[in-house]
Amino acid sequence: MSDTRRLTIREAYAEASSFLRQRGVREPEANAQRLLEHLLGEDRSGLLLRWPEPFPQEREADWQRLLERKASGEPVQYMIGEQEFYGLPFAVTPAVLIPRPETELLVEAVVTLGRRLWETGARKSESPVVCDVGTGSGAIAVSLAVQRPEWRVLASDISPDALKVAEANAARNGMQERIAFMEGDLLVPYIERGIKLDAVVSNPPYIPEEDEAGLQPEVRLYEPRTALYGGVDGLVLYRRLTSQLAELPALPSLVGFEVGQGQAGEVRRLLEQAADWDEVRVIPDLAGIERHVIAYRKPSLA
Ligand code: GLN
Repeated sequence: MSDTRRLTIREAYAEASSFLRQRGVREPEANAQRLLEHLLGEDRSGLLLRWPEPFPQEREADWQRLLERKASGEPVQYMIGEQEFYGLPFAVTPAVLIPRPETELLVEAVVTLGRRLWETGARKSESPVVCDVGTGSGAIAVSLAVQRPEWRVLASDISPDALKVAEANAARNGMQERIAFMEGDLLVPYIERGIKLDAVVSNPPYIPEEDEAGLQPEVRLYEPRTALYGGVDGLVLYRRLTSQLAELPALPSLVGFEVGQGQAGEVRRLLEQAADWDEVRVIPDLAGIERHVIAYRKPSLA
């Protein structure tokens, strides 16, 4: 990087973008902009207003350090400690997966179906109990709690460090009283406590271990392994989750999973094998990839 001392903020941004591009960083402009907002303590519009100002000389060394870290593959979200999800702010650390925009569609589908199943008809007065298995940053659990004030939300993760991040995110979004957090493997915490669940929602680790070498460095070198890999074929956690359903005190009326590319058919089969559903629905993401598999049945009145 050349000396930015005589540059305006806009020029420093343009120069940083081309530096990141040369170093093979994807979306170099967006990354340069987010880092610059972070460095200068501005939001998007605040930064635009400051475009013509000279780049502050005293921030020069920090700016170069940030750009070097980004050029080495570090995800910008871990550098600034934040990612937005479902319009809400979430803290992220390397203990948790960075929430992805496609997962917002899972939240949306669960909200839509859940309202239809539990908020109309005979069961209207009861509070459905919904769990987010492998909550990570808490993105799914917190968004569900914010969207549906009547629902009781539970969230679990095998990683105590992830749970700390999720609990902080619940508090940050005012949901600390609404979500109960539990440490444990998949459905085990609910089975052990005999909790009757209306819905099981999960975005479990699903990358096949054999795909590791092909992942972009941002993911492969920085995101937590426990949150990424789902065994040799990526499907190990779906097999365990679907077989554990029978150990719950009652079968949930909704199960919603995020899945990896090419996995929807097999996950549908696992769900159909585990129980009788009214429907198993596969939902594509914005790139057209079959991304979510949702099984549901009308709740029994018993
Ligand atoms: N449930 C979290 C999310 O959707 C974490 C997922 C994971 O770590 N596999 O972002």
